[in-house]
Amino acid sequence: MNRPLSSMDQLAADLTRLSGGPVVRDADLRPLSRWRIGGPAALFVEPTSVEAAIATLAYLADKPVPRVVIGDASNILFDDAGFHGVVIRIGRALSAMGIDGRRVHVQGGMWVPQLVRRLGQCGLGGLEHAIGIPGTVGGLIVMNGGSRRKGVGEQLVRARGCDGYGVPFERDHAACQFRYRGSTLQDDGLIILEAEFEFEQADPAFLRRDMISIMVERRGKFPKELPNCGSVFLSDPAMYDVVGPPGKAIETAGLKGRQWGKAQLSPRHANFIVNNGGATSVDVLALIRLARTTVHEQTGFWMDCEVRHIAPDGRVRPAHQAAELA
Ligand SMILES: Cc1cc2nc3c(=O)[nH]c(=O)nc-3n(C[C@H](O)[C@H](O)[C@H](O)COP(=O)(O)OP(=O)(O)OC[C@H]3O[C@@H](n4cnc5c(N)ncnc54)[C@H](O)[C@@H]3O)c2cc1C
Repeated sequence: MNRPLSSMDQLAADLTRLSGGPVVRDADLRPLSRWRIGGPAALFVEPTSVEAAIATLAYLADKPVPRVVIGDASNILFDDAGFHGVVIRIGRALSAMGIDGRRVHVQGGMWVPQLVRRLGQCGLGGLEHAIGIPGTVGGLIVMNGGSRRKGVGEQLVRARGCDGYGVPFERDHAACQFRYRGSTLQDDGLIILEAEFEFEQADPAFLRRDMISIMVERRGKFPKELPNCGSVFLSDPAMYDVVGPPGKAIETAGLKGRQWGKAQLSPRHANFIVNNGGATSVDVLALIRLARTTVHEQTGFWMDCEVRHIAPDGRVRPAHQAAELA
């Protein structure tokens, strides 16, 4: 006699059909995350087309399970307790790219450094500042990521995708209202599956030199050997004018190199938390709380996090908010 399928078995079977990609039960989140931290996710799925991604989200819309969309998890802290629902990755299966003069169409799962290199080879300038950012195009756009005081939004013409219920959207540059490390795409929980950019014509040799110099500068400044999620705290212009960037404030507070469990405020750059092997989300959140409260006591400024914590029940919040509750 056939046993009835459990609700997770049923979800896994339906998502395998809809997403076009493999669906993994009890997926270990550690190898997926740049911090190498996190417990198991009940289900992990990676859609293989824009249509499959929309169908996946639409299917989950009325299901009583948490779901979260990730890219390369280079700005995410998963929880030690894992994720009690479906993790949907917009990854390499969605990385097609088309160039039409200065206009470039890209899918949301493309690896940012690969996009920047391709643009450079084609003599298209404007995104060189993002050459060292290890995330996906979708993850970069939603938070208007970038470096050298620039954001990817400057070059974006329009973004397409769907909302958390699988309803398609299209938003032009003005409607995205890009700001420092944020946008209305992020505020409204929209999922970016495709983007259209416009770049400047430039000399490929010049672009290449610029990218090499950016990479050399980053390699000299940032810890690379140990798992990390880049800058943990956002730079606040008011604090910057008085005490400097978060890394300097943490260093001045005497916390550079401070360890908690297996996590450490990097001795190389204090705004990075590195995993020395076996760090937990509890360790990272404790260091975030320590750095934040100490800097506040000494300077009067609260540092907020760029990194997001994903709770097992699906709540996504800046990690300093999770640290306050931990
Ligand atoms: C060594 C290192 C250096 C870094 N340097 C920089 C830097 O210079 N500048 C900078 O801005 N960032 C930097 N980062 C942080 C990070 O790489 C970027 O924020 C990156 O854009 C995140 O992309 P992701 O695909 O990894 O997103 P994830 O970390 O997977 O997700 C981040 C957030 O975006 C959401 N998201 C992911 N994909 C999508 C999508 N397709 N549609 C909608 N929402 C989505 C997630 O739900 C989550 O809330 C660095 C990280 C590391 C590890």
